[in-house]
Amino acid sequence: MSTHSNIAFFIPHMGCSNLCSFCNQRIISGSIEAPSFYEIKLTCKREYNRMTSKQRRNTQIAFFGGSFTAIDRNLMIGYLDCVREFIGNDGFSGIRISTRPDAINDEILHILKEKSVTSIELGAQSMDDYVLRKNLRGHTSYQIEQACKKIFEYDIELGMQIMVGLPGQSKQSVIDTAKKVIDIHPETIRIYPVVIFKGSLIESWYNSGQYVPPSLDEGIELCSKLLELFNNNNIKVIRLGLHAQKTMEKDIVAGLYHPAFKELCESRIYLKKLKRLFKNLQTGLYKILVNSSEVSKVIGHKKSNIKVLKDAGYLVKVIGDKSIDIGELQLI
Ligand code: SF4
Repeated sequence: MSTHSNIAFFIPHMGCSNLCSFCNQRIISGSIEAPSFYEIKLTCKREYNRMTSKQRRNTQIAFFGGSFTAIDRNLMIGYLDCVREFIGNDGFSGIRISTRPDAINDEILHILKEKSVTSIELGAQSMDDYVLRKNLRGHTSYQIEQACKKIFEYDIELGMQIMVGLPGQSKQSVIDTAKKVIDIHPETIRIYPVVIFKGSLIESWYNSGQYVPPSLDEGIELCSKLLELFNNNNIKVIRLGLHAQKTMEKDIVAGLYHPAFKELCESRIYLKKLKRLFKNLQTGLYKILVNSSEVSKVIGHKKSNIKVLKDAGYLVKVIGDKSIDIGELQLI
């Protein structure tokens, strides 16, 4: 199923059995209140009336904010029940939730299926048990695999979330995680490079020198590899990098944050392609055609890609053309 948008409600996780190293849950849960059933219904109704049937068919109602299936069971059912009337027929396409791998079992999946949940995003973060332990995730990679299997059994769309740059996580561990995710083959993936928030455990590890996050450049290099891997294996990357928000930026201490992180990774992929393209060419002036929507990515942030080529002796002009496939570079 391909869905293009969500009406998202943030339900702060109230049932965390542990505190993951990178999470600033205390800050988040202290400042964000879950919407009431009444507010949720009101928003759904407003969006229902505002959208055309076609738009509604491409929209899910989403409950995000951690571990939806670990909150109080009656509350979880209450949330699902209050949006059900807007699903199906001429309404929205389904319900999307995010949760932890150890908060998935037959009983929960049975309820979710019955209540029109069509997609589950699983916060896996890593498939490396050492990394999971080190970051106090409270579950194992085996539990992730089992949860994914179960979600498939119930014919619910699977999304996964992974992190890059966690304490104890080598580059190889990240790549191995990506390969395991490809084997599982979720429909979608979100990649979150680690950002150190005020109040998180990793902030204290960072301040004491126990944890040194990768540089932004290293993060971009690694995440661009993941992006290529997932693209090549038909797994949709629906997010790469944290959603830029001014209110959140003031709580960032360090780490892999840039408001246009995904675009930087896409530019890096183009840089590699450009280097391959020019590898055996004589230095000089060149023009290349690319899809019109990709011009800025090919040029790079602050013209970084063009500068790399210039330093190697190639003066390159990038021209947009709608007829060129996305990702293609055509020398003219
Ligand atoms: S990352 Fe998720 S499971 Fe971990 S403490 Fe935060 S909300 Fe809870």
